Amino acid sequence: MEPLYKPHGVEKRWQRTWEDEGLYRAGVNRSRDESYVICVPPPNVTGALHMGHALNGALQDVLIRWHRMRGFDTLWQPGYDHAGIATQNVVEKQLLAEGTSRKELGREAFVERVWAHLEATGRTIMGQFRSLGASMDYSRERFTMDDAYIESVMTFFVRLWERGWLYRANRIVNWCPFHETAISDLEVVHEELDDALTYARYRFADGPLADGVDGITIATVRPATILGDVAVAVHPDDERYREAIGRDVLVPFVGRRVPVIADERVDPAFGTGALKITPGHDPTDFEIGSTHGLPNLTVIGLDGRMNDAAGELAGLTQADADERILAWLKEHDALEKRESYRHSVGTCERCHTRIEPLISLQWWCAMEEPRQPALAALRERRVRYHPESQHSFAIRSFEEIPDWNISRQLWWGHQLPLWYCPDGHVTCAWPPPEACAECGSDDLERDPDVLDTWFSSALWPYATLGWPEQTDELDRYYPGDVNSTAREIIRLWENRMIWTGLELMGELPFTDVIIHSTILAPDGRRMSKSLGTGIDPLDVIAKHGADATRYGLLKMSSTQDVRFAEGAIEEGRKLANKLWNVSRLLLAERVESEAKPESLEERWIVARIDATRAEVEAAWLRFDFSPSVAALYRLTFD
Ligand SMILES: [Zn+2]
Ligand SMILES: [Zn+2]
Repeated sequence: MEPLYKPHGVEKRWQRTWEDEGLYRAGVNRSRDESYVICVPPPNVTGALHMGHALNGALQDVLIRWHRMRGFDTLWQPGYDHAGIATQNVVEKQLLAEGTSRKELGREAFVERVWAHLEATGRTIMGQFRSLGASMDYSRERFTMDDAYIESVMTFFVRLWERGWLYRANRIVNWCPFHETAISDLEVVHEELDDALTYARYRFADGPLADGVDGITIATVRPATILGDVAVAVHPDDERYREAIGRDVLVPFVGRRVPVIADERVDPAFGTGALKITPGHDPTDFEIGSTHGLPNLTVIGLDGRMNDAAGELAGLTQADADERILAWLKEHDALEKRESYRHSVGTCERCHTRIEPLISLQWWCAMEEPRQPALAALRERRVRYHPESQHSFAIRSFEEIPDWNISRQLWWGHQLPLWYCPDGHVTCAWPPPEACAECGSDDLERDPDVLDTWFSSALWPYATLGWPEQTDELDRYYPGDVNSTAREIIRLWENRMIWTGLELMGELPFTDVIIHSTILAPDGRRMSKSLGTGIDPLDVIAKHGADATRYGLLKMSSTQDVRFAEGAIEEGRKLANKLWNVSRLLLAERVESEAKPESLEERWIVARIDATRAEVEAAWLRFDFSPSVAALYRLTFD
């Protein structure tokens, strides 16, 4: 044996051997009846391993191996998420580069193209998890779009329908004009933008007030949306506008009469303290409009351009429409001033197109009823988030939960199991129905929308075990034990697994949720490929070995965000080297494994090992990983 440990050949060989020997398979070498189950959060099928995966993989592997060694029937379930918009975006970009588009291709050919792309380049992360030494049962790899999984998703949808929780309604959503779909809040990134604030005068429809004031000035960054105004709102306590409340003003350019209303949601300190209300294009205005029973007017279309309701401006880009409206304001002495204004605007995470808040007809899942059992389980601590602060956050998220927008206007994903007949009846059924459930018409058209990606991953803990079939797997491995993720997806994923598990299985999917640290770049910035601050865990593994990498990540982990520290990884490498040398010594001395401690020193060492083991296990029971590896280090070096 060489004096310096070289991890690479060794790690790769053993990883392959152990997997080939089936040692990672569920149920292997079990000596007790209890099961221990963790489902890996399914990574995007087109994605690559990042530092968050590596940390999460390392700490799940600790728990899995620990239980496997103690004889539990252990399952670490791997698999992939089809990641609706992310995957569709990758393929759309390729098409764009080829001078074509998804629309030119048509839906069927596009979906085939996505499958071909995944066949060629997808599903790489599980290989990378192997490089990390993760002991998942790779023989059970699942995909949220495989045939059996589709059955689970459709069955879930029909169940929600039968419960009466699904409904269709106009709501304001984050609309990406490039992808032409609604996207979730999580997929919106906020970017700072230099803009102009336009102060426009809205004149009273019936002439000036007694004191001669002829109108109200509002400030807007988006003059084009003036066409969609249905009111001007002021704060009820704002003395400046007391006389104006209840009167009508004329919307510039279109000359429409709209009321001046009072609402406490108006911030008197912003701009002039008077707010134009455009429910069709602003979430706050949408809420204010709903309260006051105002109409919704949509003047910007799904492609981000002015639509037919914009009259003579129809078809223009918003920038061109802005110009036309500014010219009109100037001409009519209604442009008070323009000033530069820096603000944060929402853009699509995938294509960086500015998000258009738009009203569109979407499917929703009412959350009032389904959240109740989950909320009770959290309050009674039958399922616990770690650390405690995240437990309170999870409870708050359920308390404040809005209804769930489950439809997406994409082509890649689970198409809704909803069919429409020419009379507009809706039939929800799976497998696909022959005829309309209401009138028997066989002229049915399927809803083109697909489900939110998180709709399918919400079923992960039991769909991977075969639900809705009542399989032996389900009997044996549901409910599971632990789930571990980043905090960004508590609302999107963790909480949803909790309520769907209670709804469909009658039992919580796990008892503990670990929310792990976010690992930042060494300078404290977010790790990001585009910022150039990302560190590829595979590079770290290539440099220091998988054991060292895992040690370092566990050492860094805490309940807070942490900066990446290569020193921690080097420490892991030192530890691996020390253990290598200890083994060399033992092998050279031909120490038998059955040897009993005799001398005082030997008994002291055994006692220290026992004490460290207790310390390590106590830390793992608290899901506190950093002290556990520090204890191993101290044991070896002190
Ligand atoms: Zn987009
Ligand atoms: Zn019908």
